[in-house]
Amino acid sequence: MSAVADPAYRCGTVAIVGRPNVGKSTLLNALVGQKVSITSRKPQTTRHRVTGVLTRPGAQYVFVDTPGFQSLHGGPLNRALNRAVRAVLDEVDAVLFVIEAGRFEDADRSVLRLLPQRVPVVLVANKSDRSGGPERMLPFLRTAAAAFEFAAVVPVSAARGRNLGELLKVLAPLLPAQPPLFDAEMLTDRSERFLAAEIVREKLFRLLGDEVPYGAAVTIDQFREEGRLRRIHAAIVVDKENHKAMVVGKGGAKLKAVASAARRDMEKLFGGKVFLEVWVKVRGGWTEDTTAMRRLGIEHA
Ligand code: GDP
Repeated sequence: MSAVADPAYRCGTVAIVGRPNVGKSTLLNALVGQKVSITSRKPQTTRHRVTGVLTRPGAQYVFVDTPGFQSLHGGPLNRALNRAVRAVLDEVDAVLFVIEAGRFEDADRSVLRLLPQRVPVVLVANKSDRSGGPERMLPFLRTAAAAFEFAAVVPVSAARGRNLGELLKVLAPLLPAQPPLFDAEMLTDRSERFLAAEIVREKLFRLLGDEVPYGAAVTIDQFREEGRLRRIHAAIVVDKENHKAMVVGKGGAKLKAVASAARRDMEKLFGGKVFLEVWVKVRGGWTEDTTAMRRLGIEHA
């Protein structure tokens, strides 16, 4: 992928937040097309669940779920929930705070109070198609913009696909300069290749829980079909050398458990035998270091 070598390439995680009904799901779907989701039985494993990835020539936008906002329906938020939401938001690279153009309610303000100081927040005034023209929109945007130190303010219509290009344009420079985390080609649909990565990722979170290093990502380096056998090479990419040890575990036990569980799920899902190898790579060596430090061949039963 040529983007890997481009030092100006941007890639980062983006949380879409806002009170219910402002159009968050519509916006995500409009930006990404197909929604991606792998359900997980353990709530904390969804902490950094990727809900969609948009790959563009200059940037890759990785949209992540923010558990907790679903519970904003009515009633005061409890403190633990606030903390959980804040913890997630603190770890993303950018936040899209969605409101309805022309309306700024108490419920919006409750969400606003949860927004992190450290992370850039873009105010997205959605449903611009219903806001009654610029003479009403502009004063509204000015008032809303004063409520927080937003990195940018963008009116859009998610339903009509209006101004989404502008939104992506202001979002890109807020993301860190780094190569794409996901292989663009595998994200065009819910391909087996993509599902394979999600399965490895899900096992990683399920089996390591809080020990999953921040920033860990899964890539599929090889996906070959040989008759009914699928030969899959997956890499767990981490930021630091010591993170690698956390994923590998004592004597390779953790990595092996992740790989075995992932292989079983893949065989069920794909309906055939899977030969799965899972490697751990350190991101610093993304382009140069293709030799995995630890290699575990998982024999298929
Ligand atoms: P969420 O609860 O924030 O995820 O909101 P949804 O995406 O489910 O949207 C709530 C409602 O707003 C749905 O009926 C959408 O069709 C509608 N909606 C979303 N975006 C727009 C928009 O840009 N314009 C209009 N008119 N309606 C929209």
